[in-house]
Amino acid sequence: MARFTILMYHQVTLPESEAEVKYACPPARFARHMRYLRRHHPVVTLAAAQRHLDGDGALPDNAVVVTFDDGFRNNYTDALPILRRYEIPATLFLTVGLVGETNRWMAGGDFPERPMVTWDEVREMVAAGVEIGGHTLTHPRLTELPVAAADAEVAGARQVIEAEIEAPVTSFAYPYGLFDNRVAEAVATAGYRRACTTRPGFNRPGIDPLRLRRIEVFGTDAVWRLAQKIRFGCNTSGVTRPLRYYWGRLRARV
Ligand SMILES: [Zn+2]
Repeated sequence: MARFTILMYHQVTLPESEAEVKYACPPARFARHMRYLRRHHPVVTLAAAQRHLDGDGALPDNAVVVTFDDGFRNNYTDALPILRRYEIPATLFLTVGLVGETNRWMAGGDFPERPMVTWDEVREMVAAGVEIGGHTLTHPRLTELPVAAADAEVAGARQVIEAEIEAPVTSFAYPYGLFDNRVAEAVATAGYRRACTTRPGFNRPGIDPLRLRRIEVFGTDAVWRLAQKIRFGCNTSGVTRPLRYYWGRLRARV
């Protein structure tokens, strides 16, 4: 059965702290990832994948969607040239209230201060074929907010982006992957048509578009790990993963 896989990246840069190692993909490695995708998978936008979910069978098999969460400036300075080189479409989920500022919602931990993209850079990315999606205004834990505040975070992000890029915004990603039925409803009410979680797995026809599954790509993932994650639809990988996978399939069959 046809399926597609959504990949989640955060930063494309050299990590500056131990905590960042997982979330920062060095540009040279990111380039190898994109070259691999270009050679081995059809890469489509999230919107194109949705058309498939809606019943249009045009999506090629084993398609992959590339997404970035948060809106770090290195998505523009370091990732965009590589996306262009390999002609990879991508979706960028913006923390709208922090555009042009810093990642201050991460302050206090082992994460260094990092600049976020500016609106001019966002518009340039749109012109280069990058889809922009919402990721709230301030990156809160939506499930812990009062209803009105959560609604404002979700709807406000969409309104601001649409005003800035003068194009419809239809994709959303839940900060920290946190959502419940009420939050998913707020996302739909705000006018988004699909939302990415951080639950790993494949997306097949019939999946709820407000609960799309995504595989997290770590900054430490070599190309073979990326390939395995796509193949098995999981965040973990290792030399025993294929054995366990095929053993599971064998057991399911007998
Ligand atoms: Zn985020």
